Amino acid sequence: MMNRRAFAACLAAGLALTALPGVASAQEKVPVVASFSILADLVKQVGGDRVAVTSLVGPNGDAHVYSPTPADAKAMAAAKLVVINGLHLEGWLPRLIKSSGAKATVATATKGIKPIEAEEEGHDAKAGHGHDHGHDDPHAWQSITNARIYVANIRDALDAADPAGKAVYDANAAAYLAKLDTLESEVKAAVARIPAERRKAITTHDAFGYFVKAYGVEFIAPQGVSTESEASAKDVARIIRQIKAQKVPAVFLENVTNPRLIEQIAKESGAKIGGTLYSDALSDASGPAGTYIDMMKHNISEIEKALGAGPA
Ligand code: ZN
Repeated sequence: MMNRRAFAACLAAGLALTALPGVASAQEKVPVVASFSILADLVKQVGGDRVAVTSLVGPNGDAHVYSPTPADAKAMAAAKLVVINGLHLEGWLPRLIKSSGAKATVATATKGIKPIEAEEEGHDAKAGHGHDHGHDDPHAWQSITNARIYVANIRDALDAADPAGKAVYDANAAAYLAKLDTLESEVKAAVARIPAERRKAITTHDAFGYFVKAYGVEFIAPQGVSTESEASAKDVARIIRQIKAQKVPAVFLENVTNPRLIEQIAKESGAKIGGTLYSDALSDASGPAGTYIDMMKHNISEIEKALGAGPA
C-alpha cells in the first residue's frame, strides 16, 4: 500500500499513476502519426499501450496518391512523433508536414535499408516521357529482412520520443522481431514448395520488387512502382505476350488498385486470377490482412495456392 508521503512524492515527480498499465487514458498516450497502415501496425506492435497511433492513409488506401484531410493536419500538429516510409513513397507528405505546423520528430522507417532501383518495367525506357527513371523502389516492407530494420528504426524513434517507455519499447520490439523470424521461415518454406518454373506471376503495379529479390518469386507488372502513372496499351500488350510466352500461371489483383486492368489481362492471356494480394496497405481489422504479419501470411498463402499445384 502506498502511504500519503510516497503518493505525494510520486505526484511531485510527475509520475502520478499514469505509469501503471491500464490506467493511462488516450490523452496521456504518446501521439504518433504513421503515414500509412502498414507502418501504423508496426508502430502499434512496438509502442503497445503507451502510444496512440493515427494512420494518415487508411486500410486499403493508396499511399502513392493521397489527399490529406483537415483531420490529418490536426493529427500532425498534435503528434510527438511522425513515422514515414521514405524512398519517395509519400510525395504528398512534405507539404502536409509544413502546412500543419507539425513540431514532431520525423522518423524514416527505411533508414539504413539498401534500396533497389525501380526498373520501370511498365515503360519504354527510351521514350523519355517526362517522369524520372531509375529512382528507388519504395516498397521495402515486402522483404521481412527490411521489416526488421523498420522495427528497429521505430523502436529507436520511440525510445527517443518517450525515454520513460524505453524498456517497454525495447521488449516489445525484441518479441516482435522474433515473430518476424518465424514469419520469414514460413514464407521461405512456402516458396520452396512451389515448383521453380512456376514461381512467376503478374500484379497491377510493381510493388513486389523486394519480395522478388528476397524470396525468388518473380512478379511482373504493367504499371511502374507508383500508381501515379497509368499502364499504356503497349505495356498491357507486352505483358499479355509475356504471360503466354513464359507460361505465367496466375495474375493477382491488389487491394490498392482497380481490378479492371488485371481482369482484362486475365481474359486476354488465359491466365487465371490468383486472388488479391495486399501490396501497399492492410485490410481493415476484420479482413484477412489486418496486421503486417497477417498480410504477409495471406499473400504467401494466395501465391502458393495459385502457383503451387498447377491446373487441377
Ligand atoms: Zn505501391
